[in-house]
Amino acid sequence: MDTADHAQTVIEQRLADNLEAQRRKSQQSAGRESATECEECGAPIPELRRLASPGCRYCIACQQALETHQKQYNR
Ligand SMILES: [Zn+2]
Repeated sequence: MDTADHAQTVIEQRLADNLEAQRRKSQQSAGRESATECEECGAPIPELRRLASPGCRYCIACQQALETHQKQYNR
């Protein structure tokens, strides 16, 4: 029966896709570098802030605004 073989192939392909997605995810979180400039307003992000919060992409003002917005959104 070809059907069983095909189903097996699909399952294996899905597993491979999942593994690939997980691998990419972990690489992203592990190798995330802080931005030198705020993605929101373009202001330079202080070196201390970049060291304090690895992977940060916004200046303090924008980060706070975003967090406030997210809290309101989740409510
Ligand atoms: Zn900003």
